[in-house]
Amino acid sequence: MFRIGCHLSISGGYAAMIREALSIGASNVQFFTRNPRGGRSRPPDPEDMAEYNRIAAENSFGPALAHAPYTMNPAAARPELRQYALETMLDDLSRLSAIPGSMYNFHPGCHVSQGTDTGIALIASLLRELLQSGSPTVILLETMAGKGSEVGGTFEELARILEQAGSPGADRVGVCLDTCHVYDAGYDIAGDLDGVLGEFDRILGLERLKAVHLNDSKFGFQSHKDRHELIGQGALGMDAVLRVITHPSLRDLPFYLETPNDVPGYGREIAMLRELRGD
Ligand code: FE
Ligand code: FE
Ligand code: ZN
Repeated sequence: MFRIGCHLSISGGYAAMIREALSIGASNVQFFTRNPRGGRSRPPDPEDMAEYNRIAAENSFGPALAHAPYTMNPAAARPELRQYALETMLDDLSRLSAIPGSMYNFHPGCHVSQGTDTGIALIASLLRELLQSGSPTVILLETMAGKGSEVGGTFEELARILEQAGSPGADRVGVCLDTCHVYDAGYDIAGDLDGVLGEFDRILGLERLKAVHLNDSKFGFQSHKDRHELIGQGALGMDAVLRVITHPSLRDLPFYLETPNDVPGYGREIAMLRELRGD
């Protein structure tokens, strides 16, 4: 079964979000746990989450992929900012324990002139602390475009974070491959998808690959820009997207669209992609 969904808003609650997802043909969903710019958020209503779980079970829906606020920086230079990131993420994980099978994705962070080595060490120590919380939720590091001082623009950097975090099992920590980001970072998934996945396997292990952010890229190969584009309308193009969604190493993973779209637009992209794959 083709597990394809998109990023939706949680502002109306979990049950409203899954109803909206189902109404546009999505089989899984990504959402921000709270305002992506960070800050406090109301604790979710347990009844609303139970309703989400009931609808998800009835529809074989999932997995739910929660995305950490992208303005938090686990590699920040100031300790209070790192502490804030850690506390927010621990709070997110404790909420997500109410959603079976959910996963939690975060951007590794920016080393902000401290250098990549320091950035990696800081991110690894945060990840260690998250793992000590005992949360059942699988944590995902997202592949980044390598914009500015971003850490995680290469598979090697992600591998070093995992190693320094104590090499947690792939059932605890995985990787979310963002097609826009990896292409921007200089992995030619349009010209040599097999080669890129071979490299991923060698450096990280394909068993770590848990989810795909399916986006086209507004700018070209190695642009390091991180600007998402509608499916088929960017530098990757339709042929490359089709190879991604049908590749034997990827086809059984859950895909999440993060294209610049409103909800009906996501519905159209999901329908188009289902049509292309034919399952
Ligand atoms: Fe992201
Ligand atoms: Fe992404
Ligand atoms: Zn992005």
